Amino acid sequence: MATSITIIGAGLGGLVLARVLHVHGIAATIYEADPSPDARTQGGQLDIHEHDGQIALAEAGLTAEFRAIIHQGGEATRILDPQGNALLDEPDDGNGGRPEVLRGDLRRILLDSLPNGTVKWGRKLVSIRPVGGGRHELTFADGTTDTAELLVGADGAWSKVRPLLSDAVPEYAGTVFVETYLYDVDRRHRETAEAVGPGAMFAFAPAKGIAAHRESGDVLHTYVELSRPLDWVNRIDFGDREAATETLVNEFDGWAPELTALLTDGDTAPVPRPIYTLPSSHRWDRTPGVTLLGDAAHLMPPSGDGANLALFDGAQLAKALVAHPTDVNAALDEFESAMFTRSAEVAVEAHDTLDRCIGERAPYGLIELLTGATVR
Ligand SMILES: Cc1cc2nc3c(=O)[nH]c(=O)nc-3n(C[C@H](O)[C@H](O)[C@H](O)COP(=O)(O)OP(=O)(O)OC[C@H]3O[C@@H](n4cnc5c(N)ncnc54)[C@H](O)[C@@H]3O)c2cc1C
Repeated sequence: MATSITIIGAGLGGLVLARVLHVHGIAATIYEADPSPDARTQGGQLDIHEHDGQIALAEAGLTAEFRAIIHQGGEATRILDPQGNALLDEPDDGNGGRPEVLRGDLRRILLDSLPNGTVKWGRKLVSIRPVGGGRHELTFADGTTDTAELLVGADGAWSKVRPLLSDAVPEYAGTVFVETYLYDVDRRHRETAEAVGPGAMFAFAPAKGIAAHRESGDVLHTYVELSRPLDWVNRIDFGDREAATETLVNEFDGWAPELTALLTDGDTAPVPRPIYTLPSSHRWDRTPGVTLLGDAAHLMPPSGDGANLALFDGAQLAKALVAHPTDVNAALDEFESAMFTRSAEVAVEAHDTLDRCIGERAPYGLIELLTGATVR
């Protein structure tokens, strides 16, 4: 491959891209803003789908490593009503096709599979200047610079690379997720652990809900979901843990205590994650020497697809570059046209999933989605 490849962002998408290229003997450089692999906790559990995420990991030659980190039993799914009564309770029979893994474990196996030095840590991209011929001069926060021949923005929701291609800016989707963790749950939070069960638990009502996952190591990881204006979210002082928790739990008046305990008994302070999205049909005109993948290209409501799409995009872009070693623009055309179609379809589904979870038909919309049955 005559063209050097520069990737911004060592998230799942950027790492898979570099790994699949490496499998095919092509080197790439990743610039990552975080100072080290352990600088941030990597968030919770991801279900990795047969039809995209698992294909990408197979292209990366990492299926065995992926199988070794699966949280057995994690695919069990339970839907409760606000009083804690089960509306749906599906065990993990091992045939769900969506095994659960911790994001941090997945990132680690990808990092371990790359040659030392592939990721340049602590290099936050702050500006980009086109210098002709499809090349771009990159300037990092530490004052260093580099020139990219092919620049790939795998830098997530607030991509610095995106403005080269598109004027789209993420917009608040009207829903905030608030993240909490409970630890050592069988001993310290037994009733709540029993309510959640061995896998995922969803308790949803119109405009609000609680979604919790049992993670390995006796951990319950929760997203409290609320459809509220951004002003309302911004008025909560998350620095004042007690007051923030009280404001949030007031929204769940009358809910079973073993469910609200996921918020009130958190072992970590609640962390707001306002949900931002790009338009579902986000796309751009082909521009020489630059492309995007993952959240940088298609930011959508969390529906269990974003990480899978990022993995798949990374592998697909690598394969297109391998197939067109002397014609990068042909590779980008091939990658982008397929990605635009794929991500637009999934983004529409992701909005529908969020609506099924905490829209007017909650919780029956989600039950229908999971079972295929018409509930009412
Ligand atoms: C609350 C919440 C829950 C979610 N749950 C799920 C789920 O259960 N399943 C699922 O599939 N998806 C889920 N998602 C979506 C998923 O997290 C994303 O779609 C996925 O992480 C996108 O991967 P990525 O590689 O494109 O970007 P990211 O994972 O965001 O990685 C981008 C990387 O780029 C780096 N970076 C950013 N800016 C710069 C810069 N200027 N210079 C250098 N580096 C930079 C960042 O530090 C980061 O390492 C969830 C999202 C949210 C908000």
